[in-house]
Amino acid sequence: MEVHSDFSENEIIGKNFFECFKNIPQKWLERKINSVFLLNHESYTSWEQRPYLLQFSHGRSVTGHLGFMYQNCNFTPICNQDNEVEYVCITIKDMTDIAISTMQLKEACTELERISSIDGLTQLYNRAHWEKAFANEVERIDRYGGKVSLIIFDMDYFKSINDNNGHLFGDQVLKEVANRCKNVLRSVDVIGRYGGEEFVVFLPETNIQETALVAEKLRKNICDTPVYYEDITLPISISAGFTTSAVECNDFEKLLRQADIALYQAKARGRNQCVNYLKLPVEEPKE
Ligand code: GH3
Ligand code: MG
Ligand code: MG
Repeated sequence: MEVHSDFSENEIIGKNFFECFKNIPQKWLERKINSVFLLNHESYTSWEQRPYLLQFSHGRSVTGHLGFMYQNCNFTPICNQDNEVEYVCITIKDMTDIAISTMQLKEACTELERISSIDGLTQLYNRAHWEKAFANEVERIDRYGGKVSLIIFDMDYFKSINDNNGHLFGDQVLKEVANRCKNVLRSVDVIGRYGGEEFVVFLPETNIQETALVAEKLRKNICDTPVYYEDITLPISISAGFTTSAVECNDFEKLLRQADIALYQAKARGRNQCVNYLKLPVEEPKE
């Protein structure tokens, strides 16, 4: 206590504890100590519940964390010959190293979780994360009702974009496409990079007419402006297929298959267009 508190033994013995240490949570501490007197039983607090009891500097050069010493405290009854509690001994343990490494570990786990769900190139959700979110959404509407729509789109002639301008340019195009999508979608719509140059969006509580508008808006927003990178200017286009959940019997893989069939039709019909799965002629294979 002498080392950390700036009080010498002579200055503090016999004084009122709360007058010496002004920043103490007095009511809380009184309750804690009273319960030890009453129950004649040891009590404990950890730095995770209350970072510290006494505001001591931890003297370490760690940034980004509390500048004070993290503490675990024990409140131990000291009894007289009749086994009545006469004093309470407070033991303070410096937990700063453990606290900081635990918090750093937690931060690292949170960051790891974020990184594992994001596609590094486009910063959109990656396939695994997006697919899980979509499957959950389909399960939710199957249980509680509602609807969800799905758009899949794929860059047109992307292989020749790569072949003619280099893979780096291709990467820039993918980044640019991801950014252009963000301007069109609502915050509740969930977009992901499904594969190389293929993107997916699910739109909660959106009917097929609204989805047709969003798909077309996406296409126009992506295709109306060429991509500029270094000294290259290149028009780009996408083809899209979209569908929506049925009143019953939804499964996310079925919806993906439907949107994919519509996308295939958009490619077959000349690219740079959006195709509604529900409007495909019956003679064309639907599943
Ligand atoms: P289509 O209009 O029929 O879709 O033709 P396409 O050339 O776009 O289709 P294809 O599937 O033949 O080509 C996709 C290309 O995308 C091939 C692959 O090299 C490229 N690609 C996939 N992932 C990436 C990536 O991360 N970066 C770059 N630059 N290219 C990628
Ligand atoms: Mg393509
Ligand atoms: Mg493709």
